Amino acid sequence: TAAPPTAMVVFGASGDLVTRKLLPSLAQIQERGLLSEHFCLIGCGRTEYSDEQFRRIARDALGEYAKGIPHDTAASFVEKLYYVSGDYNDPTLYQRIKDRLAELKHRHDVHGCDVFYLAVPPVLYGSISEHLGAAGLSCKDQPDCHQQARLVVEKPFGRDLASATELNRVLDKWFKEEQIYRIDHYLGKETVQNLMIFRFANGLFEPVWNRSHIDNIQITIAETLGVEHRASYYDQSGALRDMFQNHMLQMLALVAMEPPSSFDADRVRDEKAKLLRSIRPFQLDAWNSPFVRGRYGAGVVNGQEVPPYRDEPGVAADSITETFVAARLFVDNWRWKDVPFYLRTGKRLARKSTEIAITFKQVPHSLFGSVGLDELPANILVFRIQPEEGMSLHFQAKRPGSKICMGTLNMSFAYKDIFNADMPEAYERLLLDCMTGDQTLFTRFDAVDLAWRLLTPVLDAWHDGKTPLPEYPAGSESFPQADALPAADGHRWRRL
Ligand code: NAP
Repeated sequence: TAAPPTAMVVFGASGDLVTRKLLPSLAQIQERGLLSEHFCLIGCGRTEYSDEQFRRIARDALGEYAKGIPHDTAASFVEKLYYVSGDYNDPTLYQRIKDRLAELKHRHDVHGCDVFYLAVPPVLYGSISEHLGAAGLSCKDQPDCHQQARLVVEKPFGRDLASATELNRVLDKWFKEEQIYRIDHYLGKETVQNLMIFRFANGLFEPVWNRSHIDNIQITIAETLGVEHRASYYDQSGALRDMFQNHMLQMLALVAMEPPSSFDADRVRDEKAKLLRSIRPFQLDAWNSPFVRGRYGAGVVNGQEVPPYRDEPGVAADSITETFVAARLFVDNWRWKDVPFYLRTGKRLARKSTEIAITFKQVPHSLFGSVGLDELPANILVFRIQPEEGMSLHFQAKRPGSKICMGTLNMSFAYKDIFNADMPEAYERLLLDCMTGDQTLFTRFDAVDLAWRLLTPVLDAWHDGKTPLPEYPAGSESFPQADALPAADGHRWRRL
């Protein structure tokens, strides 16, 4: 669906996210013919730029991060960009934004929604929202407020249950839930969306998508990168807040939720919330916790020696931040009772790999015991999200020859080979959905709240310093404490 006329105001426009992701994605949307002709964008920040300086930055960003975009598209896109500078806590900034919006909407003939995108550090989300509301820009009192103004909030949404609840209280004062778009960019990735199509548009798989046929499910987000230039943020955050509370739990919800009654934003989000609510409460005793954390030490990644986490510039010398977290969870409902879900995410691991792997149960009786094949490898269905989006199904087949000999076949496809198209960037999809008013891929507050209710006790337990924080050598596949989680059920992590 093409975007309707939209005026966008992006706070933090001089930042990394805007130059690396948002502007290139919007230009790509235009290149695909999906951006309205009636579009304008105001960048906003403390840094003083003129419109022309901001356009030059945008041009450079497109040159670097949107290389395939033709010159004409880039040139016409940057013509729609403007800039207003000021202090985020100064009420007059919002009056100037309001005046500029009115002028530009008139100039570009935009009869449509205002989208306010908060691409700033999370400490500013509350105060910018308050100022927008106080300046009359949130339109909450109007019956069609979600057609008048929308607010896009980046992750992280809070750092525990109390701060997320407080932030939501502030947003809720000025914006209705149907106006708030909480971004989890993993949900914009093609393979993640494909989970829903795969499960609910095929008659073949849903009948076996349950405890009778599935043995276990593994969700992995493994990175080779360390903290890069984000140490000051990451050291205050850690793997549980940065990846697990949002991306991992959202993927778990999509793979395990019940079929929604329709592909409507709230029906899908109802099912995701129901699933999160069904996660079995866990014990957090250090000796029997379903959560394991770790921190990378010195090691070798992709042939390069790398320093330990604590020696990274910007990391506190006495840091107790985890760079790895793994969990063994159960979902207490009729579909999943006693099926283990193993989730892990970490930095500086052996390979970059994001995937969801569904391992099916063994055949109930092997016909091939007489030739020594009592234990047959299980069927595994893998949704590969990074580095190359695609899917694969592992199953047994006879190898050519006279004897009963078998091999595991891997039926695999990569999106880019089959659909012969460049894969849209996750932000393209999310920005387009936000402009069209589709909240399906955005996180509703009940899911944020449920995720923090689950994980805040884990953070509290870790904070008291009693839980071990083992070091794993950078470049490892795993480490013994993490291996113990699947081993409790006789399983092991998949190779990265
Ligand atoms: P950033 O580069 O650190 O900051 C964005 C802009 O915010 C800066 O250019 C700066 O603009 C303003 N700013 C920074 N620190 C500030 C402070 N202490 N007080 C007031 N203004 C400040 O952030 P980013 O990487 O673009 O990320 C923006 C948001 O997206 C963050 O909430 C982040 O968590 C989230 N996010 C980012 C990524 C990513 O890939 N970068 C991915 C996922 C989520 P001015 O100085 O001009 O005001």
